[in-house]
Amino acid sequence: MSEFDPTILHEAAIPPPEEFSSRARVSSITEYDALHRYALEKPEEFWGEQGQLIEWITPPEKTLEWKLPHAQWYVGGKLNVSYNCVDRHIAKHGNKPALLWEAEDGTAIEFTYCELRDLVCRFANAMKDLGVKKGDVVAIYMPMIPELPIAMLACARIGAVHSVVFGGFSAPALADRIHDAKCKLLITADGGYRRGRVIPLKESADEALKSCPTVKHMVVVKRTGEPVAWQQGRDLWWNELVDQFPETCEPEVLDAEHPLFILYTSGTTGKPKGVLHTSAGYLVQCTWSMQNVFDLRDDDIFWCTADIGWVTGHSYIVYGPLSNGASVVMYEGAPDHPKRDRFWRIADRYNVTIFYSSATAVRAFMAWGKQWLEGHDISKIRLLGTVGEPINPAAWKWYYEVIGRKQCPIVDTWWQTETGSILISPLPGATPTKPGSACLPLPGIAARVVNMQGEPVKPGETGYLVIEKPWPSMLRTIYGDDERFRRDYWSRIPGAYFTGDAAQCDKDGYFWVLGRVDDVIKVAGHRLSTMEIESALVSHPSVAEAAVVARPDEIKGEAIVAFVTLRAGQNPTPELKNHLSDHVSKIIGTIARPAEVRFADLLPKTRSGKIMRRLLRELAQKGGISGDTTTLEDIGAIERLAQQKGQEE
Ligand code: ATP
Ligand code: MG
Repeated sequence: MSEFDPTILHEAAIPPPEEFSSRARVSSITEYDALHRYALEKPEEFWGEQGQLIEWITPPEKTLEWKLPHAQWYVGGKLNVSYNCVDRHIAKHGNKPALLWEAEDGTAIEFTYCELRDLVCRFANAMKDLGVKKGDVVAIYMPMIPELPIAMLACARIGAVHSVVFGGFSAPALADRIHDAKCKLLITADGGYRRGRVIPLKESADEALKSCPTVKHMVVVKRTGEPVAWQQGRDLWWNELVDQFPETCEPEVLDAEHPLFILYTSGTTGKPKGVLHTSAGYLVQCTWSMQNVFDLRDDDIFWCTADIGWVTGHSYIVYGPLSNGASVVMYEGAPDHPKRDRFWRIADRYNVTIFYSSATAVRAFMAWGKQWLEGHDISKIRLLGTVGEPINPAAWKWYYEVIGRKQCPIVDTWWQTETGSILISPLPGATPTKPGSACLPLPGIAARVVNMQGEPVKPGETGYLVIEKPWPSMLRTIYGDDERFRRDYWSRIPGAYFTGDAAQCDKDGYFWVLGRVDDVIKVAGHRLSTMEIESALVSHPSVAEAAVVARPDEIKGEAIVAFVTLRAGQNPTPELKNHLSDHVSKIIGTIARPAEVRFADLLPKTRSGKIMRRLLRELAQKGGISGDTTTLEDIGAIERLAQQKGQEE
């Protein structure tokens, strides 16, 4: 990629609040630097030491065995992940809440570590009785209810491999994933709640199983009580089942590299891949990052608002927090139900101290306005986090000022399903943060921005984000397709892991993730990142969210089309369109001026909330959509955009 002088990436650094640093685990940038240098020079020593964060049945003999692209971490070690996340906390914290669950209707249920252990054991015993063996793959298709983490931990206890499929997926999407992993068992619920409506999960599960002969049983949690079809012999109610089994279950002794789970990526770019993670390395790095990125303390109440159907929920609702014996808030429903203040109501009710959400959610909060905070005391929040997409500087500042009251550091965490845990992020007590930047690689992470030959590009130049050394929580393969694993991740840039993201490093070594390599736009010979142009748009007071794509242009090669969602109360006038194009020209330069601005009530997003520029590109180029839309959250969003264009013409 060629150079493009970034204008909006010149945000000044904000130092961590002194009060925060003074109590933090890593409390200065000097301390971070020393740690990072040590970890890069001696990765095996560093990660070997972090291996002590978990409890082993047999300690490992060797920290790393690396034959590109295959890594084995903590070789020879034996452990059980569910033991680490549950049993080991009981002596000290048996009565501490592990899960603080809130239903969409406001019902609250608390599970202590002791209670969690009993439930995990009962269900583990039940699965064994159903014939689930070590290494079998279990599909989990559930709403955000406590039985979901319980089922995952029960799998981990007996050495079964879970494959959680987000509860918002359709029957064919579920069937595809069950096929791909040849699952033996499906765990679901009669239904789930979303904005007060019942989502008939069992119906989709029934539909999916018509074409899934490998699945012998379906265990169904009764959540809604709505009538459901029932196949005698195959279907079993969770409650009736677990009642038959004792609340103790010896954890299986498992190899460090025993597969823990398969998780399909969210599908922004096309066909989802079954990312395989294994036990020890994944757990160690989730445990480490949970402690250090979130500066976790014993009395914290941690809330990650992601769905467990995504990797964020796996690593920072289930494995990371529970491995540290933390108290985790888990919420069943939508952020705007019954009203748009729901998250702040929850933060207040549970005295949440660490709030971790997505960039897309922050932009929604900003669009809705700060009046929704009124009457809710969120002053216990001491740290904010974001993930999923680049957070535009304007949204970052809104988060910092309105939610964080300028007192909470923000950790903008860059990572992927494939990386298993956070790789680039500030350490909140140490790193001065720059709005819109994920800041610095965590200790032990050899991140770099390079050209196609793998050579580092200069500060301020756009290149490919790669990781040059293996890390413990890295994916081990694509399930059933090791060739694709090698091709997609380890063959593009010699010797390095290819993330698929475009990025820049600034002169301070800060990383600016600019979006996906496939989304980069080329206008008159200049490569422009979607993130920069979108951030320029979002910096305008009337804009809440923006997505830009390119369409072919005879003169310039490509012309920019911007899709824009306005903040509450703003009028979508033709003058505003012009004005927004001018605004981008002013901030970045005429080269980045959108040729067309289109207003959208909602942007098309994946079910994990990421903007699908691929579909917008198709719309801008061809006027309609024929590409794969199975991972789309709301087909209406793109259909309305397509129609609206027709009306305007
Ligand atoms: P698919 O790979 O199927 O297209 P996906 O990449 O959306 O799906 P995830 O693994 O959930 O699935 O997302 C990881 C991607 O999200 C990263 O590669 C990056 O593009 C983006 N991302 C995540 N966190 C950040 C962040 N803090 N800043 C910028 N981008 C981020
Ligand atoms: Mg991806």
